[in-house]
Amino acid sequence: MRQVNQVKLGEEFIKSRAHREMHDRCLWAARMRRDAVAASIPEWEEMRELASEIKLHTLSNLDFYLEQFTANAEANGIHVHWARNADEHNAIILEIFKSHGVKVVTKGKSMTMDECGMREFMAKHGIEINEADLGERIQQLDNQRPSHIVMPAIHKLRSDVADLFARKLGSDRDIDDPHYLNSVMRADMRKRYCQVDAGMSGVNFGIAETGGIVVCTNEGNADISANLPPLYVATMGLEKLIPRQSDLPLFIRLLSRSALGLDMTQYTSHYHHPRQGQEMHLIILDNGRSERLSSPDYWPVLKCIRCGACMNTCPVFRRTSGISYDAIYMGPIGIVLEPSYDLYKYARLPYSCTHCGSCGDVCPVKVPIPELVFYWRSVVVDHNDELFTHNAEETLAEPILESAGNLAKAEKVGLWALRHIPKSIAESGLNPWAEAHDDPEPPEETFRQYYNRVIKPESDKDTPKEQS
Ligand code: SF4
Repeated sequence: MRQVNQVKLGEEFIKSRAHREMHDRCLWAARMRRDAVAASIPEWEEMRELASEIKLHTLSNLDFYLEQFTANAEANGIHVHWARNADEHNAIILEIFKSHGVKVVTKGKSMTMDECGMREFMAKHGIEINEADLGERIQQLDNQRPSHIVMPAIHKLRSDVADLFARKLGSDRDIDDPHYLNSVMRADMRKRYCQVDAGMSGVNFGIAETGGIVVCTNEGNADISANLPPLYVATMGLEKLIPRQSDLPLFIRLLSRSALGLDMTQYTSHYHHPRQGQEMHLIILDNGRSERLSSPDYWPVLKCIRCGACMNTCPVFRRTSGISYDAIYMGPIGIVLEPSYDLYKYARLPYSCTHCGSCGDVCPVKVPIPELVFYWRSVVVDHNDELFTHNAEETLAEPILESAGNLAKAEKVGLWALRHIPKSIAESGLNPWAEAHDDPEPPEETFRQYYNRVIKPESDKDTPKEQS
């Protein structure tokens, strides 16, 4: 199996200046809106801390809350199923669909179902699944994965969508007005909604106390999937639980503000039982989550509420897009989640990080992504001998970083190289960084030398020799 090379795939995206600039601008705007709404709430940091504590508490008592949730959901008339992995998940849903003669399904956005390859699996069994989320449907029509957890087609220009709709839906290629494009999609989907046999959605929160589920969307795609057909199937990762109904407003306040800088998602829908005449099934998915929970260093990753704020702020993600991760989960949370699904395939992802730490600062539930990046790098180095470059870098770095004296010597060697290597080599194809940057003139001395000469107080100047 080939390894995902995010750097190479990112290069492809960066080649188009229009895409790169639009993507960066849109996501940075979401990040700035998030900052503005966070700053307008004096208790924002207390909210983050409380949400983190609630998630840690729930995960620490997950057996209890899962049983409580299941008992309440079943008492409400929901059929609850347990899936250990993606295969079981898909088989359970196929069985439900077969027993109801389902042929056409409308589906709200669900990363968990994407994780199971559910749509592709159903296609092989002759069941047509149509995405009801606009961005997700665009990606489905384009045979491409979502590029962002909450904005699945954010890497596409309007002209890309116009071109796609012209090819797939017969619209006018030259009109890229969003209202027109929306109307084209609406007309196509309305026909399909009238034919559906079943609806599907993901779950944002399961409430143990009530056995109800909550789904948050901005387009009502879960609502149409849950309310229109006589059969409704939802999938929930087992970490999505919160203990009480009264805990929910905290998470609702944090979710949309963190994701898009909006006060609330347009639709926050609560499903406690099937509506009259309807059958409702809920699949609770493990798929590696129990194993993650048992890891002393890694288990806080399960706090994630999939808001996407870490993506909007990440400088690597904003420049290279979610497509370049070639994975279900992308961006900062993706680079620490995907290796837990397939360590070999995603071994390079934890290196797609500048260590700016911004993801950890914006996360509404304080998932310690920066620490988890280091966690995965050490796992990769221990288990993956084929990452020659990274392993060589780490092996070389070890003696240099071992002592301040060695680091000071390495700095001097680096500066000498910068000053003496001819520009024809320094700015050649051997150094891709130079393609888009002007190299500044190297200074006469290293920062450490400058600091010791100019800034350091006289009283401290008797520092051991190797640190000078
Ligand atoms: S890690 Fe935090 S910021 Fe990133 S998607 Fe999850 S909850 Fe949101």
